[in-house]
Amino acid sequence: MTRSPIRRGACLGVLFPWLILRSVCFVGAMGEAYAADESVEIKVDQVGYLSRGAKVAVVTAAAERFEVRRVSDNATVFKGTLGAASLDADTGDSVQIADFTALKEAGTYYLDVAGVGRSWTFAIGPNVFSRTYYVAMRAFYGQRCGTAVDLGPEFPGYTHAACHSKGEFHSSSGKRGERDNVGGWHDAGDYGRYMVNSGITTGTLLWTWEIYGAKVKSIKLNIPESGNGTPDILNEARWNLQWMLKMQDEDGGAWQKQTSEHFPGFVMPEDDHLASEVIGTGQAPYKSTCATADLAAVAAIAARVYQPFDAKFAARNLERARKAWLWTEKYPDVVFKNPPGVSTGEYGDNDCGDERLWAAAELWRTTGEAAYNEYFVEHYADFRSILDAPAPEGWKEVAPLGLWTYALSTRKGADVAVTEIRKRTAAAARAIVEHTRKNPYHVSLLTKDYVWGSNGVAANYAMELLVANLLAPDPSFVETAQDNLHYLLGRNTFSLSWMTQVGANPYRHPHHRPSGADKNAEPWPGLLSGGPNARRQDDALKRLPEGLPPAKIYLDEQASYASNEIAINWQATLVFLLAATLP
Ligand SMILES: [Zn+2]
Repeated sequence: MTRSPIRRGACLGVLFPWLILRSVCFVGAMGEAYAADESVEIKVDQVGYLSRGAKVAVVTAAAERFEVRRVSDNATVFKGTLGAASLDADTGDSVQIADFTALKEAGTYYLDVAGVGRSWTFAIGPNVFSRTYYVAMRAFYGQRCGTAVDLGPEFPGYTHAACHSKGEFHSSSGKRGERDNVGGWHDAGDYGRYMVNSGITTGTLLWTWEIYGAKVKSIKLNIPESGNGTPDILNEARWNLQWMLKMQDEDGGAWQKQTSEHFPGFVMPEDDHLASEVIGTGQAPYKSTCATADLAAVAAIAARVYQPFDAKFAARNLERARKAWLWTEKYPDVVFKNPPGVSTGEYGDNDCGDERLWAAAELWRTTGEAAYNEYFVEHYADFRSILDAPAPEGWKEVAPLGLWTYALSTRKGADVAVTEIRKRTAAAARAIVEHTRKNPYHVSLLTKDYVWGSNGVAANYAMELLVANLLAPDPSFVETAQDNLHYLLGRNTFSLSWMTQVGANPYRHPHHRPSGADKNAEPWPGLLSGGPNARRQDDALKRLPEGLPPAKIYLDEQASYASNEIAINWQATLVFLLAATLP
């Protein structure tokens, strides 16, 4: 926290303690009182703003004017008038906008709002998010299963020993005995590994490379593979990809997940001694279609992406993707439900048609073979309407990924499909821009979007906008994508950065077992919280007062798994949008 010697008549936090001011007053050498700390009534992106982009802060206490001051000498570099107050129904806040877009000079600043206080500090510059990208991407390394992890010396003490080093088949898998399934990432706050969520996560990271490779290729993540000649984002993705390949049976099908039968307590991963089991459907063919189709899609992307770095690995991925695809042709609708006695995450999905569409599109993009194209052309019309409603994709709904990869491909496909996908995506993006502009917080979330993982929904809106910008370039799409990033990094009703250890006022108590079980005062770094959840799907949220607006239903508590859990899928989307901001 930066102490700034802003001269004031008095320390507001002392005189008016009911004001939500986190004031710590101290007395300067000359005996003047100084307000040192920041007001949560001023919401800024605590990381910063790109020089060329829009720069907007939100003020929720009545005021008229604001100044932007430079941290180094407290000099005022910009003066502005706050916009008219408007009521935001989703938070209940009365919101005034401070627009300082005209300030382009690189530096570190804070807002000073007369009568309210000062904001957290933030940077302006052409490249303000590279450190945030690094920390977000490195969070995946922290989630590695089956190996010892050490985030030091940058984050000393953030370590865990090798965990879950033995796997075995659960009776529901159709097989018996031990199984080498070491690897992968712990999915979320728990230690399970789930193919469906791994699929969208790994696919999103591989897309990040395909789309923003030039921006991220030189960013070294300081992981064990760094310096091996492969870009680190691909090194990290490979850790999970290799586990996904291990989950494929000889017949080509993939088991749904590898977890214990029930969740362990809040222990470090190496202290979780519950058996790590490959779990199937409980009856032939034991594997599930969604998991297998997701594997086909991701391995097909990997076949393109790893080609220049490890042609053998790329070829192995293609072979596995084809095999998985054939399995889904034979078994197009084997749905997974938790077998008796298993209570870990289900990632259940009654319709695997969208997963198969994504697989066909990625296989077509990689191979150019007619059979995959024919499947896509025959089926895409069943899914295209999903592009119209601004309802972002998620682990359960991957049709947008299938449709977009088809349109992004340089292969000579069906022009009519490409044109239609491009048109619908651009129209949906324009609608998102429109409703985001009307939102007092400039976030794309609609009232209905404050669900489990709402921060992931905000990130997904941003990803949708960025993909639209590739298909039909429009600067307003990029600008609005960044608005959602600003929301996640502090421009929200709580004035909270929803990335651990990022920004001056980050959330601190994620539902994340290593963060809860280790000896460190702060949580593991770089992890995105799930965010407000109006459905109150845990006991902690049920304790909140009735009648709270949807965006307020959030608790920075470990117990609130329905609003404060971390998860690899929304972490990957965050990485995608951070990568887009890099120079
Ligand atoms: Zn593990």
